[in-house]
Amino acid sequence: MSGNRTFTMIKPDATASNNIGAILQKINEAGFRIIAMKYTRLSAESAGKFYAVHSERPFYKDLVNYMSSGTIVAAILEKDNAVASFRELIGATDPAKAAPGTIRALFAKSIEANAVHGSDSDENAQIEGNFFFSELERF
Ligand code: GDP
Repeated sequence: MSGNRTFTMIKPDATASNNIGAILQKINEAGFRIIAMKYTRLSAESAGKFYAVHSERPFYKDLVNYMSSGTIVAAILEKDNAVASFRELIGATDPAKAAPGTIRALFAKSIEANAVHGSDSDENAQIEGNFFFSELERF
């Protein structure tokens, strides 16, 4: 059975271009409920830990630098079939390949600065949500 929660970040490119409100509106309009939300900035060390699964990939160092370069919004979202439904809403990793109307097609700047993160499995959604939020911060 698929879970009903996913985890997202609005990435530094999208906070810098003042698209937090527009992206949250898309998320709400798509039927996601916000369970927890935090406006913060990752240190390079924290970004490195968050993306540790990608540590062998060639873009890992750039990704860590980028994700610690500015503020982010982290959030836990709830909807039926949340992980797959949210990945559909955000579109492909590379905005040039993202379907029209998706969040990345609308707001991303590049394959790296691609506006939003979305968990890729129920298991990672839980791990990533726990990375940012304590039990007391979730409804
Ligand atoms: P996602 O699940 O769609 O976010 O994509 P991945 O898990 O494959 O990659 C994680 C993040 O790394 C992406 O969201 C991008 O920010 C970044 N990324 C992915 N592929 C590349 C790449 O080829 N080059 C660079 N510079 N960054 C990338």
